[in-house]
Amino acid sequence: MNEHAVVIAGGGPTGLMLAGELGLAGIDVAIVERRANQELVGIRAGGLHSRTLEVFDQRGIVDRFLSQGKIHRGGLTFRHTPVDISLLCSRHNYFLHLWQNEIEAILAGWVGEFRAPVYWGCEVVGFSQGDAAVDIALSDGTSLRAEYLVGCDGARSFVRKAAGIEFTGWDATKSWLIAEAQITEEPAWGFREDATGTYAIAKLEDGRAMRVVLTEQELKTGGEPTLSDVREALIAVYGTDYGIHTPTSISRFTDVTRQAKTYRDRRVLLAGDAAHVHPPMGGQGLNIGVQDAVNLGWKLAQVVRGVSPESLLDTYHSERHPVAARVLRNTLAHVALQRPDERTKALGDIVAELLESDEARMRLASENAGLSVSYDLGKGHPLLGRRMPDLDLITTKGTQRVFALLHKARPVLLNLGEPGRFDITAWQGRVRVVDAEYVGAWELPVIRTVTAPPAVLVRPDGYVAWVGGATQQGLVEALTNWFGACA
Ligand SMILES: Cc1cc2nc3c(=O)[nH]c(=O)nc-3n(C[C@H](O)[C@H](O)[C@H](O)COP(=O)(O)OP(=O)(O)OC[C@H]3O[C@@H](n4cnc5c(N)ncnc54)[C@H](O)[C@@H]3O)c2cc1C
Repeated sequence: MNEHAVVIAGGGPTGLMLAGELGLAGIDVAIVERRANQELVGIRAGGLHSRTLEVFDQRGIVDRFLSQGKIHRGGLTFRHTPVDISLLCSRHNYFLHLWQNEIEAILAGWVGEFRAPVYWGCEVVGFSQGDAAVDIALSDGTSLRAEYLVGCDGARSFVRKAAGIEFTGWDATKSWLIAEAQITEEPAWGFREDATGTYAIAKLEDGRAMRVVLTEQELKTGGEPTLSDVREALIAVYGTDYGIHTPTSISRFTDVTRQAKTYRDRRVLLAGDAAHVHPPMGGQGLNIGVQDAVNLGWKLAQVVRGVSPESLLDTYHSERHPVAARVLRNTLAHVALQRPDERTKALGDIVAELLESDEARMRLASENAGLSVSYDLGKGHPLLGRRMPDLDLITTKGTQRVFALLHKARPVLLNLGEPGRFDITAWQGRVRVVDAEYVGAWELPVIRTVTAPPAVLVRPDGYVAWVGGATQQGLVEALTNWFGACA
């Protein structure tokens, strides 16, 4: 039986990001993936939001995505109100259009650098948890043993079901078809809306094919959608199927909205779609899955290395569960506002009026971009629990960006006061101290300018774990809580 410290079920974006984070920390991690290779059937996520680009920047891999994607600065539309994301407080104040298959290919390339084994064409079909390990049964009759099993196996997660973790929420009320195919007639390009829902037809690069997104007249779930489903949906709205033929992809999605009650059951954890599903409005699913992985990766690495107690893993649930709950709430509102009745229209008009305020638009845009996340790490400076901004620091080695200090996914104690005043020898090798200066305002998304702190302790995921004042009060406690007891 092969043994690994961590086995990840599912090599989608979440599983890949987690494997990369663990690989970076030197942990023996393997992925079990049902697909025979990274090829992805159907159209899924269409791009990356600011915070996801920032976390890639924190690992030094953002250029790989930027070089292949297309930047859109205009941004987000909430109901019919455009929200200008170029005002977002981030170096990556835009949406990067890049299809999920391209995102996965880049992530897979990165994971490959850590030589993490991938068991392709294999499914996790069973597991049992013991005191020290999880025994994992694979579909090819073999088994694996790991200290931890992470279910990144998507919305229908076997791992979640087998762990008996409840997946509570709301059943689907609507279904949509998304397809790419050839056509023989010129269609009605663009958006359309009626009492049933919304429809869109876009021209593909070769000019002869189209991509359609169509609300179905009646809710359909389960089963693979066919070309006749697409024809039927087109005729219902446009009165013709435009001679659609030779599809290259047909998928169905619904507004089912659910979240796992807990993200951890002893040695089994959930991340990404396995932990939360919602309709794709706002394009957030892949993005929050990647960010789940970045929150979990360094914690799991420390627990596996014996640096931190298992209880550190509970902070993964307490931090990430509320984030996905807000995304679910946001998409419930999106779907509700699409209803065609007069009362919903009135509500939509009120929302549109409120969004005339800059503050309201910025709140919404920051939230959708993942920039307003604030983990509850107690009371104190407004930076505590928020993402560290990517400041240009002046150090003895010249100007350095904060994100560049996080490339190795190691915590950083940033001293902006008297150089050399911190002695954390007890955490040597675990926490890096950087003496630096910063001239300028500290601007944060949503809350704007905050008082410049004399020191901050930044976690490997880029969130602030401690903010220093005139004294070093609370530093030892924060170091111990987050990065293990002193050596
Ligand atoms: C039409 C559509 C549009 C979308 N648009 C966006 C968007 O614009 N932006 C956005 O951020 N998100 C979007 N999403 C959501 C996004 O696709 C998902 O949130 C994302 O794929 C989740 O990644 P994941 O790795 O958690 O799960 P998945 O991508 O589902 O990956 C799970 C992997 O696990 C494998 N697997 C499953 N079961 C097992 C098993 N038992 N053993 C081993 N392997 C297993 C699967 O083969 C798969 O590779 C969209 C989704 C759809 C359907």
